[in-house]
Amino acid sequence: MFNSKEEFIQAFSEKLRTTIGKEVETATEQDAYRSLGALVKDHINKNWLQTNQQYEKEQPKQVYYFSMEFLIGRLLGNNLLNLQMLSIVREGLTDLGFSLADLEEVENDAGLGNGGLGRLAACFLDSLASVGLPGHGHGIRYRYGMFDQKLIDGYQVELPDPWLSEPYVWEVRRPEDAVEVRFGGYVDTGVTPEGQLTFEHKNYEQVRAVPYDVPVVGYQNETVHTLRLWSAEATQDDTLALAYKQSMSGNYLTHKRSLEETSDFLYPDDSHEEGKRLRLKQEYFLVSAGVQSVLRSFERMELPLSSFPEKIALHINDTHPVLVIPELMRALIDERGMSWEDAWEITQSSVSYTNHTTLREALETWPIGLVRELLPRLYMIIEEINERFCQSLWKQGPGDFDRIAQLAIIADGQVKMAHLAIVGSHSVNGVAKLHTEILKSREMKKFYDVFPKRFTNKTNGITHRRWLVHTNQPLADQITEAIGDHWITQPERLQDLLAKKDDSAFLDQLGKVKQQNKQQLAAFIKDVTDITVDTQSMFDVHIKRLHGYKRQLLNALHIMYLYHELKSNPSFEMTPRTFIFAAKAAPSYYFAKKVIKLITTIADVVNDDSDIQGLMKVVFLPNYSVSMAEKIIPGTDVSEQISTASKEASGTGNMKLMMNGALTLGTMDGANVEIHDLVGDDAIYTFGLSSEEVLHYAHHGGYSARKVYDSDARVRRTVDQLVHYSPFSKGSTEFQDLYDSLITYNDEYFVLKDFANYIATQQRIGYDYLQKRDWNMKSLINIAHSGKFASDLTIQQYASQIWNIQPVNIVR
Ligand SMILES: *Cc1c(COP(=O)(O)O)cnc(C)c1O
Repeated sequence: MFNSKEEFIQAFSEKLRTTIGKEVETATEQDAYRSLGALVKDHINKNWLQTNQQYEKEQPKQVYYFSMEFLIGRLLGNNLLNLQMLSIVREGLTDLGFSLADLEEVENDAGLGNGGLGRLAACFLDSLASVGLPGHGHGIRYRYGMFDQKLIDGYQVELPDPWLSEPYVWEVRRPEDAVEVRFGGYVDTGVTPEGQLTFEHKNYEQVRAVPYDVPVVGYQNETVHTLRLWSAEATQDDTLALAYKQSMSGNYLTHKRSLEETSDFLYPDDSHEEGKRLRLKQEYFLVSAGVQSVLRSFERMELPLSSFPEKIALHINDTHPVLVIPELMRALIDERGMSWEDAWEITQSSVSYTNHTTLREALETWPIGLVRELLPRLYMIIEEINERFCQSLWKQGPGDFDRIAQLAIIADGQVKMAHLAIVGSHSVNGVAKLHTEILKSREMKKFYDVFPKRFTNKTNGITHRRWLVHTNQPLADQITEAIGDHWITQPERLQDLLAKKDDSAFLDQLGKVKQQNKQQLAAFIKDVTDITVDTQSMFDVHIKRLHGYKRQLLNALHIMYLYHELKSNPSFEMTPRTFIFAAKAAPSYYFAKKVIKLITTIADVVNDDSDIQGLMKVVFLPNYSVSMAEKIIPGTDVSEQISTASKEASGTGNMKLMMNGALTLGTMDGANVEIHDLVGDDAIYTFGLSSEEVLHYAHHGGYSARKVYDSDARVRRTVDQLVHYSPFSKGSTEFQDLYDSLITYNDEYFVLKDFANYIATQQRIGYDYLQKRDWNMKSLINIAHSGKFASDLTIQQYASQIWNIQPVNIVR
């Protein structure tokens, strides 16, 4: 499109005139961003069209990834990188008096997700396009994404995220592909003269689902896939009908809003299910719109329905979109006259499911009454699936009522979504080796016994293009200089770096790059919080959702302990540290919000204290997001991955940080175990209870937090600071509930049990940090092995072992 800087400048200036009506001299950054977006989009559109045409002609099997969350972040920089336009655009903009970095900041994050699960979906789409595997996403175009977090007096306050307040430059609205989604009403059952049952849905309320397509650009391979985000709208007719039905005097606007609210908000709960009616509505909205859209594309191929599974794979990211199973059954049986058996065969062979957690509070269940009322026909189908499944269990083990009750899809007045997902799909995968083993041996053992072949592991991954090439260019350049650029398309080649393990100059340079990134991060911290941090200190980073099991409280208590030592023990020695936190708490998660208040309180006390002479700073960066992660990760020395063992299914933050040369301080949990296997004992700092020990305590009891408190003076002194008069409590009862969670309620997450071990490991890491050459070598070992976690590789395993799809080469 443009082969030189001059051509770009020409095209960009023209775009400014035609889209904004301005000359470069008067254009604002917002103007420049929008023109650049439009220009890039022109280029993308050609490849997009080409990809779609080629797929229509060649009819390869394609996967549709259904997810309630896509935590996309910004796209400008990544799209430029993938389109190979980065340097020309950067230089051209500079000549015109703009900075690309500043224009990137204009873009609002598409924060359509809570955390790891949503970011995984975004990484997977990037990888599918980049390795040329045909696959697209279906999600919801929430009008408000993940809330904006502000701090007021150190407390989290949530504000709506108006990410669409400026036009979103990447999306295309496609009203011609809109579909209707129906809720409520009742089902009229009848029989045809031939004796076939018919089901007619009546008296329903309907919402129009309008797709907004976002292009997903592959890395320098002409491939562009589609992330289809559905938005709820009301047609004039729908609104009128509803207004008429609901009282005949209904307020037009109220009814319009009630239909459209379906896609208003992302539910801000991570690893926790609220069980709200509107949430179930959202889930069905995504599923029904997505399944209708997929069936339309399939039917354009004019093939018999029986070949659906040969052309299409439907993947569900956690159970949130599990209604894909009964919805596809409905579409095949009610609308296409298929028999139950044939429809079941097609559904089961098309659908696959990823399990993301074993936390009880995160498992989705819905009250029967709610499902029946909101989705009457789907409920009938779920009942039938359950009925047939229970019968098959009975045949295998007649009389074993307990087993049947435990495995049933409908039991105790609830519909169990995970059970529906396992029964209605051909593949169930966990997201790290340990997690999958826990599923098979404990949480889903009974299902594993019934369907042993259905369960596999697919350890999560991250796209190294965003998380290294784009966010850490100095490091990427250093790597390329050393081993060439093959690693960008073959991330496992990062291993070639191991050849530099004893190269002093290289290790030295690695240290310099880290130092440079820390200076950038320090400037960002100063800008956001006005706190000055020492870039020579060890940057110890804990960034992720705020959750009991992620144990930010353990980190906070350790800081309180250090502070006390620094103040009271003149011979106490410590490597200077900067503790950096960023985390959002679910708005209704009281405990998590208290931990935020504790961290911000500690920060206020510590940062103000001249006694400790800047040996320690504590920073809480508000409003954690993808674009903030991109700023923090390159400047991190130590990556805190300290979840209670067995509770973190995989983690992906651990992978991003490792890829940027941070050393992990972690428990043997989730993918930390696999990081440990790769880098070896010396290049990771592990501590704490094992998952077996935690699970043993959980099932058999035997842990007493009180005993730990009584027997370890450091624990006692630290925990007491929460409630006794201390610089943190200042005599208030602010942190009483945190104290109670540890002592009165016996420390559900084994914080105190792991405390002594954590202190010792922190001490060791602080000492090792001073051995610069060794440290840099460990950092290199981490970077070199991180290619194993590139999502390109993960997605290839899904493709060959679950979806059975093959790459397609797009030719222009
Ligand atoms: C990667 C990422 C996460 C997941 O982090 P974990 O440490 O794996 O929980 C959450 N939020 C954002 C913004 C991320 O980029």
